[in-house]
Amino acid sequence: MVSDTPKLLLIDFLIVGGGISGLACAVALRRVGHRVVVVEADASINTENSGGCRMAPNLSKILYHWGLHEKLAPVALQSQAIDLLLYETGEVLGSHVWDEEMLRDARGEFLFGHYGDLRKLLYEAAVDLGVHIRFSARVSSIDPDAGSVTLVSGERLTADVIVGADGTLGMSRQLFDVDEPEPHNINMYSTTIPKAEILKDKALASYLYGQKYRSMFSWFGNGRLSLGFPLGGNKDFALFVYGPNDGRDGDWETEAPIAGMRRILEAAEPRLRKLGALARPPICVPALDYPELEDWVHDSGRMVVIGEAAHPHPPGAIQTCAMAVEDGAVLAKLFSHLRAEDQIPNFLYAFENLRQPRCAAVTKKEFGDIFFMSLPPGEMQEMRDTMMRQKRDAGRSALESSGDAEETQEWTEIKVMFGYDAEDEADNWWQEWGVLRERARGREVPCESFGNMIVVEQQETSPTKATSIESLRARFAGRRF
Ligand SMILES: Cc1cc2nc3c(=O)[nH]c(=O)nc-3n(C[C@H](O)[C@H](O)[C@H](O)COP(=O)(O)OP(=O)(O)OC[C@H]3O[C@@H](n4cnc5c(N)ncnc54)[C@H](O)[C@@H]3O)c2cc1C
Repeated sequence: MVSDTPKLLLIDFLIVGGGISGLACAVALRRVGHRVVVVEADASINTENSGGCRMAPNLSKILYHWGLHEKLAPVALQSQAIDLLLYETGEVLGSHVWDEEMLRDARGEFLFGHYGDLRKLLYEAAVDLGVHIRFSARVSSIDPDAGSVTLVSGERLTADVIVGADGTLGMSRQLFDVDEPEPHNINMYSTTIPKAEILKDKALASYLYGQKYRSMFSWFGNGRLSLGFPLGGNKDFALFVYGPNDGRDGDWETEAPIAGMRRILEAAEPRLRKLGALARPPICVPALDYPELEDWVHDSGRMVVIGEAAHPHPPGAIQTCAMAVEDGAVLAKLFSHLRAEDQIPNFLYAFENLRQPRCAAVTKKEFGDIFFMSLPPGEMQEMRDTMMRQKRDAGRSALESSGDAEETQEWTEIKVMFGYDAEDEADNWWQEWGVLRERARGREVPCESFGNMIVVEQQETSPTKATSIESLRARFAGRRF
């Protein structure tokens, strides 16, 4: 019997920016058969001097689904626990071991790695799939109505869909009529410390590397905080240091004077100060308050923004890379159903509808967490510390409920965040809305999902190897510094 179902329509995507969001999006779109060109301003993927990056289970599960487990394993370390300490004294307020069941349910792993390794992995996956990546190709203007971009060289490139993945400082965001960001009173320094240097100091080494579980360390301070974790490849330790904005206006690619970071660490416990003394030159990124972008799809219906061009995060936040990868995964899942040109704007708006609430909730929580961890002395800070000490002294885990509730709101939020499956969400949209819309237009829709129609063999998903403190934390969600 001859089927009337129209064939899958394969189109040209042009992605501006080869960061995590641009590369992940390129991989995802190629996997479902579309043609993809990435234009990147830098001369290479620039993995030099990269800092730490935390890959939450909602990110790793996508990479596993894309068959990248074997490539990721050598450059990632599995996180097992988190230690919460006071910045000024080093007192351990509590700790929490990630529970196996939660990770199994989330179908991913919580990994630590070098940002540069993740970017390189995505770059290589994109090239293997046949994505055309052009370096030293800075875009000087974008004309979404004409479906074209012009490079500084004067060359003009056209595509069916333009994806703006050029980050917070790129030009895509400017096309969406958004106000300038305002500074928060906080900067983040990111650096790494060679593990070999740490091992020379027995006390420091035994604390950072000698724990029963591989931990991430979170130091809570007065207007300051710090995060430290060992990195994949097992050669470096990553350190993020947040402190008062000293007027520095840096970015991820420009080395900052280490004196600025050490000044913030002057108030810190001795182990943190030692880390500061052993650290490589850092970069410094200010935390900015970006006004939310109301639209992510251009009026032309032919351009969309993704990653930090659409939803900037606080620097060093746990979900930044994850949200960037989820964006690409969702966009590609939607476009795996493309059969007619008039579906293009619908799929772009579906992307916006799916991603905006998710990214807004995540960003709000990230800013809230920074605020919670850097509370100034006072009633709130005392309440936070007292409640954590009570749990600790009762032998309970930091994220365990201290009241009658089975689990804390914080723990529930983490489970929801980690358990989220971006690709499933896109599939659900198709089943609930997309199919209906097509049928209403009198089009045949096949029963099976075309998300399985990939260019390369799809590999098996990797086997997975308050109480009142919550209300206190909730009060800080989205707070300004
Ligand atoms: C070099 C670099 C190093 C980083 N290091 C870390 C780290 O160590 N740890 C961490 O947690 N986060 C790091 N980040 C930030 C992190 O990548 C982002 O916060 C997050 O992954 C979202 O990425 P994105 O792809 O949306 O945007 P970005 O990472 O900002 O990527 C945007 C890309 O677009 C390119 N671009 C901008 N304008 C143009 C133009 N006009 N034409 C063509 N290309 C353009 C940029 O060169 C860049 O490669 C780094 C970012 C960069 C760019």
